[in-house]
Amino acid sequence: MSSVRFRYSAWDLSPFILNPDHMQKTINDIISNDWFRYMDYLSGYDNVIHYSWKKKTISRAERKEIRAMLEEIDEVTGITFKKTRKRDDDIRFISVPEITDDTLLEFSDLGHQNSTFLVDDAVVGRASAGTKRMKIFFRDNDDHVSLLEKYILRHELGHTLGLGHPRGQGNDPDYTVADTIMSYNVYQGPAFFYYGFTSLDKQALQNLWGLNPEAYTVNSVIKPQDIVEIL
Ligand SMILES: [Zn+2]
Repeated sequence: MSSVRFRYSAWDLSPFILNPDHMQKTINDIISNDWFRYMDYLSGYDNVIHYSWKKKTISRAERKEIRAMLEEIDEVTGITFKKTRKRDDDIRFISVPEITDDTLLEFSDLGHQNSTFLVDDAVVGRASAGTKRMKIFFRDNDDHVSLLEKYILRHELGHTLGLGHPRGQGNDPDYTVADTIMSYNVYQGPAFFYYGFTSLDKQALQNLWGLNPEAYTVNSVIKPQDIVEIL
């Protein structure tokens, strides 16, 4: 028989001891109001964001991944994502074999806000803001969805929805992808770490776009026995 014991020690609690040498991490560090305001404008100020994809370059598995990613954000924020055709979209997903100068030519008016996303010296993704839509480019050579690809899609989606790099710098050493998908710090030694959207990311998006009104209604149903008189 093996015996398993659970006990708490100071060691278990140590990550939660506040370290005055570190600034607290807040949603303000990853909010980019320029990106947010522009997507709010593109989507017609109604929290409904229409998206499309360049189908011939995106595999079935990749489409499934994009849908799952959008559903995750749809569920926890006031945003509703709706699939549409290119001419009516606000976000367009485009897979490219390499992020090249040709991709760069897609850029237009909000030039200074374009994001060039480098991991391990390779440009792997880009979000660009044009006059009619934002485009999300991700580097992809196959039908498979890798962890890196999941990460790129979320990082670039984050930009289009109003998130920026932590304190303006993707490689800010105080942040890793355990804190926010908007960090470039994905490697610890040779290991690539993937966490998806973190709670900080979701809080920031909720701050910008509000809460999902449906989730809020379900959770706030009060049963008669739960009503407490407050005097
Ligand atoms: Zn970025």
